Amino acid sequence: MTETLEAATAATATTLRHWIAGRPDPTAPTHLLDVHDPATGQIVARAPMATVADTDRAVEAARVAFESWKETSLSQRARIMFAMRELLTRRRDELARIVTREHGKVLSDALGEVARGIEVVEFACGIPHLVKGEYSEGVSGGIDAWSIRQPLGVVAGITPFNFPAMVPMWMFPLAIAAGNTFVLKPSEKDPSAANFIAEAFAEAGLPEGVFNVLHGDAVAVNRLLEHPDVAAVSSVGSTPVARHIYETATRNGKRVQALGGAKNHMVVLPDADMELAADAAIGAAFGSAGQRCMAISVLVAVGDAADELRPRLEERMSKLTTGPGHHETSEMGPLVTAEARDRVADYVAQGEAAGAELVVDGRSLQVDGHADGYWVGPTLFDRVTTDMSIYTDEIFGPVLDIVRVETWDEAMELVNGSEFANGVAIFTNDGGAARRFTHEVEVGMVGINVPIPVPMAYYSFGGWKASLFGDTHMHGMEGVRFFTRAKAVTGRWPDPRHRGVDLGFPQT
Ligand code: NAD
Repeated sequence: MTETLEAATAATATTLRHWIAGRPDPTAPTHLLDVHDPATGQIVARAPMATVADTDRAVEAARVAFESWKETSLSQRARIMFAMRELLTRRRDELARIVTREHGKVLSDALGEVARGIEVVEFACGIPHLVKGEYSEGVSGGIDAWSIRQPLGVVAGITPFNFPAMVPMWMFPLAIAAGNTFVLKPSEKDPSAANFIAEAFAEAGLPEGVFNVLHGDAVAVNRLLEHPDVAAVSSVGSTPVARHIYETATRNGKRVQALGGAKNHMVVLPDADMELAADAAIGAAFGSAGQRCMAISVLVAVGDAADELRPRLEERMSKLTTGPGHHETSEMGPLVTAEARDRVADYVAQGEAAGAELVVDGRSLQVDGHADGYWVGPTLFDRVTTDMSIYTDEIFGPVLDIVRVETWDEAMELVNGSEFANGVAIFTNDGGAARRFTHEVEVGMVGINVPIPVPMAYYSFGGWKASLFGDTHMHGMEGVRFFTRAKAVTGRWPDPRHRGVDLGFPQT
């Protein structure tokens, strides 16, 4: 970047603050991190990196707010969620532009992300119904039993860069509607969406301290994981970080759900509609430049499916337009950082060296007028084998591997042999094959002729194996259970005729 350009961007870059107790934190930050527009390399924001003391302030604000928030009626909590839903819907373009500027994804994709997040807010509007308990009259002589669900306290949310609006919205709507207070630690790579959400919540009437934003890195996260006033941790990120969060927070007695990385397979049987399968593979592999935890990165072609698919993929890839996310013609944006671009390019080199056939190489892609952007174009490998790093590792970029297998059984063995188990798809016109696949596959989310089977807000999102540490998935009823704990009550209002002591268990 030239000196003049650097000076210009430094002047226009927003300096963010943590959002604590309903306002921008007045404490002067000790360290600011630059946030870049991945399409230009320019600095567009600076985020404070939280210290342990900052983290403690945010948790304390949430702890204080919990005392009154948990006593706020369900109807009032639902009303605030309805107001939040209206605000986010009205201002979704603004939020999507923020996402595109810092993440790089194309605007239509950012709008889709915001829409999916709002659906969880809509689901949380039903909180009075969602936390209803059960009641049994007369479980024993004159005794009734019932169950209630209560909030946990302060919940920490730790989120990744790839969905800076949607992934926090998987967590905080249900957490807050259920009566908890929340400290969000968003990704330091695209932090501004979190402040936008905090401001919207304030406008929607959420009391101060119920939703807090703490910017930072491992320092903030590690303090949250050990803080005695944090009751639960909900996190999404790469597998090593998810494992660390799960192990540390559970050791400190917290309830944890930690979603990890992925390597998602799409199995194509020879009877599939090849045009549909090729369209689906392109969208699922290269949308958001492959930076989706549900992206398809391995195409498992059974029998002669590879020969049918490969020319169709090449043809579609040659027509894809990569460019800045806010350009209407762009279908794919840049990688999020220069490091991410270099890591993806390094994997492509490893794949070539290992003997995979590099059919389309995106490394030399240039985008007119954007020489400093973090570009890698759509990339396709064929004849990939399971010992190659491009198969075993999550690349998190626009790289699609074709693995050729002879039979359905081989395909199933491949998918079930993977360390990761987030999403999987099968493309076929054979209902019986699809049904058997759904039954036998050991993966958390399954698509039948649907490449990215992301569950709706009223179902739950989550993988198996190294894609999830913990027991509950995000949103849906599993989300409600994660953010509440059950209490079983047994009660008796003594019948005035009752007399006598009984030391045994009741028999009737
Ligand atoms: P990341 O693991 O680098 O970071 C996630 C969060 O953890 C961030 O807030 C970050 O600040 C924090 N963090 C990073 N290193 C840490 C450390 N050493 N100690 C404590 N905290 C740390 O992930 P990312 O690069 O931001 O996001 C991409 C990853 O997230 C991919 O692996 C992707 O598959 C995964 N992801 C998974 C899902 C899912 O549903 N399973 C959804 C979205 C993203």
